[in-house]
Amino acid sequence: MKKALPYIILVLLLCWHAVMFAQDRFPRPEFETDYVYPEHQMPTQRAPFWQYIDLAVLIGALIVTTWLALKKRSRQGLLWMSVFSLAYFGFYRQGCICSVGSVQNVSLALFNDGYTIPLTALLFFIIPLVFALLFGRVFCAGVCPLGAIQELTGFAPVKLPKTVDVVLASVPFVYLALAVLFSATNSTFLICRYDPFVGIFRLDAPYTMIIFGVLLLLAGIFVNRPYCRYLCPYGVLLNIFSRFAGKHLTITPAECTNCRLCEASCPYDAILPSNTEQVSEAPERSRKRFILYFLFIPLFAIAGGYLFKNLAPALSGVNSTVRLAREIRFEKESGIEAVTKSALAFKEAGQTEADLFAQEEFIINRFRKASPWAGIFLGIALGIGMVSLSIRRRRTEYKPDQGKCYSCGKCFKYCPIKVKSSNEV
Ligand code: SF4
Ligand code: SF4
Repeated sequence: MKKALPYIILVLLLCWHAVMFAQDRFPRPEFETDYVYPEHQMPTQRAPFWQYIDLAVLIGALIVTTWLALKKRSRQGLLWMSVFSLAYFGFYRQGCICSVGSVQNVSLALFNDGYTIPLTALLFFIIPLVFALLFGRVFCAGVCPLGAIQELTGFAPVKLPKTVDVVLASVPFVYLALAVLFSATNSTFLICRYDPFVGIFRLDAPYTMIIFGVLLLLAGIFVNRPYCRYLCPYGVLLNIFSRFAGKHLTITPAECTNCRLCEASCPYDAILPSNTEQVSEAPERSRKRFILYFLFIPLFAIAGGYLFKNLAPALSGVNSTVRLAREIRFEKESGIEAVTKSALAFKEAGQTEADLFAQEEFIINRFRKASPWAGIFLGIALGIGMVSLSIRRRRTEYKPDQGKCYSCGKCFKYCPIKVKSSNEV
């Protein structure tokens, strides 16, 4: 019963949330007038005092989660943290402010003089990364509301074939590159737009997004944390920082005896096995492979840069001004009247077509300059991924893969070694 309590509270939270937000009508009413709901609604801006309260809650939650994961080694405690974070950052704060989305605020601020990032948004971006650098992905363990809702619904893990896992795990890199590119060019906030769970927190997303979120949760029952593993762009940064974590959670509280009992316990395939029994490769051969793969990095970077440079005009289509200019041009060329809301608004506003086309050209040029960097980033990431696959380190114990490990603590109970000071639950 004690162990089931966090899950019971999750169900109660969902019911309470549905009742509290019933006045927002879900599904939404069909209006007989021309009124249409805006595609995205943002929670109202909080007074600065409350933004700092959110920040204090984030730091407090990170400290408690770190203690629960590294010191107390309590899976149950981490589940309670997930319930808390889901309630506070998810249902109460409605997924905003959010470290995952803050990536876009940072890139918008870096590349646009007219935008000043709020200090709290900047700190929401930086602080989980600092914790990842010090203690691993404790943010994912019990603080991120997107991770928490998936953690609480992952019951029956199945393992995907290795190749499928590797291919899907490359998607967050592409997502991150595009999200940064689109926000840097002031085009759209891709991560917020396609956040699958924010619609559940706010009950205001388009149907398609709410259905996507629900489907992800259902898929997550078997393929645990699908968003974290195969989509989350912030997870890419946490993965990189966590690899250098000075002090990371361990599977065993003492010395690993290589009993192999934890081997299959991680639903995220984040346990690196001991490999002392494997026949080691000749050093000369591994050195050659390393050099070969290393030489691929600049080649991949150039190829990525070239590919994305050519994709720039197509990618710029996400920008609403570029889309409008194309619509107006199509109207001129084909004679078919543009009837979208933005086209009608443009005509009523009296802006000249020359101005619009000049703006379009300016935006496409920004894409031409920025897109190659997204391609270079992806090329380097692919190259480094190949190099890291070529490195075979000798391991004498079972340990978490620091990049992939969400510090969830599911593996703790599989280790038969107990120490007196450990309060493992
Ligand atoms: S991987 Fe992303 S969505 Fe998942 S818990 Fe970590 S930050 Fe949140
Ligand atoms: S703590 Fe890390 S290694 Fe252990 S089950 Fe969780 S993700 Fe896997």
